[in-house]
Parts: sequence; C-alpha cells; structure tokens
Amino acid sequence: MELWVATGNQGKLNEFKMLLNKLVGVGLNLHAQSELPVFSPPPENGDSFVANARIKARALKAVKPGTWVMADDSGLMVEGLNGLPGIHSARYAGPKAQDLENIAKLLKMMTLRPMANRKASFVCSIVAYDPQGNEHVFEGRLNGEIAKSMKGTAGFGYDPVFIPEGETKTLSELGLAHKNKISHRAKAAQMLAAAIEPTLL
Ligand code: IMP
Repeated sequence: MELWVATGNQGKLNEFKMLLNKLVGVGLNLHAQSELPVFSPPPENGDSFVANARIKARALKAVKPGTWVMADDSGLMVEGLNGLPGIHSARYAGPKAQDLENIAKLLKMMTLRPMANRKASFVCSIVAYDPQGNEHVFEGRLNGEIAKSMKGTAGFGYDPVFIPEGETKTLSELGLAHKNKISHRAKAAQMLAAAIEPTLL
C-alpha cells in the first residue's frame, strides 16, 4: 500500500517518516510529492489549517487516485498575538521567509508587547484520502509558551523558541525523539496511522 505525502517541507517529511515508521514495517510505502516528475503545489489560500490541508491533499489525490494521500497544514498560534502567526506561520516575515526570519519577527512582535501573553499552541491538521476517496480529518495540538530567545538546534520552524507545557527547554533543545512523543504532528499522525493500519491487512 502506498501513502503519498503532500509536502515540500523536509523537516515535516522527516518527522512523518519517523512517526509512520511502524506502518512502513508492515507494508506501507511512503512517498513524497518531490518524487513526482511534474507536480505544482497549489496555492494555500484557505482560511483554516484544515482548509489548507484539504487543498494540498486534493491536489495530490488528483494525480495519485486509488492510493492513500495526505497533507498536513500546521502552525503556531500565540495568545498574545491574537492567534498569529496561525495559518501564516510559514510566511510570517514575508512570502519567501526562512525559519530564522519568521522567528526574528515573532520575537520582535513579542518585544513590542512586553506584557503580551506568551502562551502558544502548535496545531497540526491532517487531511487524508483513502484509496476509495473517502476523506479523513485529524487534528493534534501541543500547548506551551514562547521563549525569550532561540535555544537549541534540532527540528525546524519555530522549534527553537517553543517551550512545551511542563518543560523548561525548547523543542529544539529537547530533540526530535522527544518532540515526536508529544508534538501536535505526532498526535495527528497517530490518528492517521490508526486509520491506515487496518487497510494494510
Ligand atoms: P505549512 O507547511 O503551510 O503547514 O506551514 C507550516 C509552518 O508552521 C512551518 O513552516 C513552521 O513555520 C510552522 N510549524 C508547523 N509545525 C511546526 C513544528 O513542528 N515546529 C516548528 N514550526 C512549525
């Protein structure tokens, strides 16, 4: 059985490979959109994580019907910034922004509002289509807070400035193995794995 993953984000893809590894051992072949000779990712112009994940998953389903396809849309919601960067997380500092630029903007926005609530959540919405074309939607969350400065090197995106609830270190300091036990993506991927597993038998 094949599962095609609609992402061009290497950090996300690495995490999905680790998170779904259990299924790879029992017959799931994981593929990324980058393996397709021709594929133009659609514009992510939805108004929610689920809407954007659906746009990406449907685009891949159109070229890979009859297999499992999935996309996730994820981001960081900061309470003191009224939920921003939210669905704009990947492009917070501009259309071609790199992770470090997005982090710099986030920390600057928090500095401009010294009393701002630093509580934040990572959200991951997965939209998947099974080989029959039925849609499956899953959501995972990780609560925490925004650190005052970047710490650690593991992971991607805002990991160096996100301290999970109950921890004193950032996700980047805690490392990928720890992140994959608690993350928003891990929770959503676990639900996806539970939906795929029976179809492998
Ligand atoms: P997407 O590819 O449109 O879903 O954008 C996701 C963006 O949200 C990433 O580029 C990161 O900026 C941020 N993000 C999502 N998940 C994570 C995570 O697990 N760690 C750090 N940043 C994340």
